[in-house]
Amino acid sequence: MNETIEKTVAANYQAVKDRIAEAARKCARDPDGVTLVAISKRQPLERIEAALEAGHRVFGENRVQEAEGHWVSLKEKFSGIRLHLVGPLQSNKVKPAVALFDVIETVDRPKIANALAKEMNRTGKLVPCFIQINTGEEPQKAGVVPGEADDFIAFCRNEAGLKIQGLMCIPPFGDDPAPHFALLADMAERNGLRGLSMGMSADYETAIRFGATHIRVGTAIFGERES
Ligand SMILES: *Cc1c(COP(=O)(O)O)cnc(C)c1O
Repeated sequence: MNETIEKTVAANYQAVKDRIAEAARKCARDPDGVTLVAISKRQPLERIEAALEAGHRVFGENRVQEAEGHWVSLKEKFSGIRLHLVGPLQSNKVKPAVALFDVIETVDRPKIANALAKEMNRTGKLVPCFIQINTGEEPQKAGVVPGEADDFIAFCRNEAGLKIQGLMCIPPFGDDPAPHFALLADMAERNGLRGLSMGMSADYETAIRFGATHIRVGTAIFGERES
């Protein structure tokens, strides 16, 4: 392994963990209540392995096929890995997604909710899910719009029968993320959901202040992505 890369990733990782602890302390939260999901999409294998060597075990990827390329063998090599799917899921990828991922953060329509439930029943692998909310109501972005969220959450729980752990959002690029985080937190609270996946490299400290239980941090740990 390239020693420079190993050291850089290890140092970045430690710095992010320190900042999480500090952000949690400032709002009187337990840092252990914030799960760091290291987003390894489009990162070279040696950087991912550096994070694993540094002891990290929770990772996120946004494409099923790309994730398979790295994580099928990494899961054999390192124990205790928890892999989150944080990108949109298509029906034809439900089977490999349920097989590979330990959490699916991007449930956003009935067809996918039903297909996931069916595959989990078939395989006996119960994968906890988050529902993605399109808090900025951006047409190009995945997620349920806020006005349909309560009904869709009820559908996923009661009709599809999924285990819904919480809500996830990606605020519009360039917006102040705080109102989006606040909206997501409100929505989770009124639906009795504990999980809040929000906050990325640029804004995870703000997200922690608004109650994030999962932050999704990529470049701050691994450096810039390959295009
Ligand atoms: C890429 C990605 C991230 C990480 O973004 P960074 O700015 O690199 O931290 C977080 N969440 C999702 C859904 C992503 O696709």
